[in-house]
Amino acid sequence: SGRWARAEAIVNDFEEKCATPIGKLRQVADAMMVEMHAGLASEGGSKLKMLISYVDSLPKGDEKGLFYALDLGGTNFRVIRVQLGGKEQGVINQEAEEVSIPPHLMVGSSYELFDFIASEVARFVTSESEEYQLPAGRQRELGFTFSFPVRQTSLASGTLIKWTKGFSIEETVGEDVVSELTKAIERQGLDLRVAALVNDTVGTLAGGRYYDNDVIAAVILGTGTNAAYVERAHAIPKWHGLLPKSGEMVINMEWGNFRSSHLPLTEYDLLLDTESLNPGEQIFEKLISGMYLGEILRRVLLSLAEEASFFGDIVPPKLMVPFILRTPHMSSMHLDTSSDLRVVGSKLKDILGISNTSFKTRKMVVKLCDIIAKRGARLSAAGIFGILKKQGRDVATEKQRTVVALDGGLFEHYTTFRKSLENTLAEMLGKDVDSSVIIKHANDGSGIGAALIAAAHSQYL
Ligand code: ADP
Ligand code: MG
Repeated sequence: SGRWARAEAIVNDFEEKCATPIGKLRQVADAMMVEMHAGLASEGGSKLKMLISYVDSLPKGDEKGLFYALDLGGTNFRVIRVQLGGKEQGVINQEAEEVSIPPHLMVGSSYELFDFIASEVARFVTSESEEYQLPAGRQRELGFTFSFPVRQTSLASGTLIKWTKGFSIEETVGEDVVSELTKAIERQGLDLRVAALVNDTVGTLAGGRYYDNDVIAAVILGTGTNAAYVERAHAIPKWHGLLPKSGEMVINMEWGNFRSSHLPLTEYDLLLDTESLNPGEQIFEKLISGMYLGEILRRVLLSLAEEASFFGDIVPPKLMVPFILRTPHMSSMHLDTSSDLRVVGSKLKDILGISNTSFKTRKMVVKLCDIIAKRGARLSAAGIFGILKKQGRDVATEKQRTVVALDGGLFEHYTTFRKSLENTLAEMLGKDVDSSVIIKHANDGSGIGAALIAAAHSQYL
């Protein structure tokens, strides 16, 4: 019928505009490299901030002692302790506690928020069992994973650029978050030094390196997306400090803000951006991360309903609600293996109030999931390829292993996405190189990573 033909035309047009042939991905990777160079050359030189992390030595595996971490990323925070036993014993003991932040504290005062966090840290520390041993006379040391944009001024200081993810406390902006935390810890009467302030990507890189010496980059694919990697210090023109002994510096790319004319942006992406809370920003993130994939799907389905009466004569009202269709819903539809696509049918019914969908309709929805997820996964692979190319790891060398640590709910749970990313990277690398490049899932590496960075930079070394 005419309706179905119109729907097919819309989907085919969308598919064409989302296409990511290898040639295009190479252009994206090259553009990423160009922006990396520009961001390293000067402050504000690129959409990529290429933030200097002040982490110039990553864990070696021989760290010893009791260390702590605090992971503040969203609505929850985690406190972690880890007893490290050196090369032989590795991680002897590890414990974590997750605490949710009362919503009123996310929009209250700095003082109250940090007081709450510090009191939980104090409670965690004082409830320590005998297995955890701090040598006499030694101060406790903590790594602080803080996943908000921060301009760092040293390994253990940095000013908040802005809050995101539902936090809004004006007075904290421009303040040093380590000093805020330290003051609150002192108010608790706790003797504990904040030894490092790290982004979650940097923590993931450190956590990955502890277990595998060949980890040289980390990527997070979760609600948002970001990457960090190890750069040669003399290849950072904007760095005016002393060259670190290691000759290396970890860079927090803030790659979610990458943008290039080579990115396959459709009219749906442009509108999503315009109507977002941060128009013009985080364009790469809006194509590939978990916060947005389901929303792109909703927008295409809405246009099918409006332009081709895809779900019948009326446009389903729920389909007009922004962000109602989440990426986990999308992935469970995409991964539906039942012969009648009944998961797709029930998701459409439960989430969007669309019942009695035909098999043909369900199949079309799966096809859209595939187009959107593949584009995101392939672009993520192109970004990783860009990093490897910048590091000179895109060519075959004397059997040098290269490991990239990946974490985040999207990568972990969306199997089709993950496989597509891995296959695309393999395709870009070619057979010779691919056998020496490994993508490794670094489960929750960001928290323990911060404790390891604190250990690697301990005042007692
Ligand atoms: P965050 O990025 O907020 O720190 P996570 O790394 O745990 O937290 O990622 C959570 C995100 O991962 C969710 O917002 C969602 O977009 C995505 N996600 C979680 N589960 C799934 C799933 N089953 N399928 C696809 N995406 C998922
Ligand atoms: Mg996270």
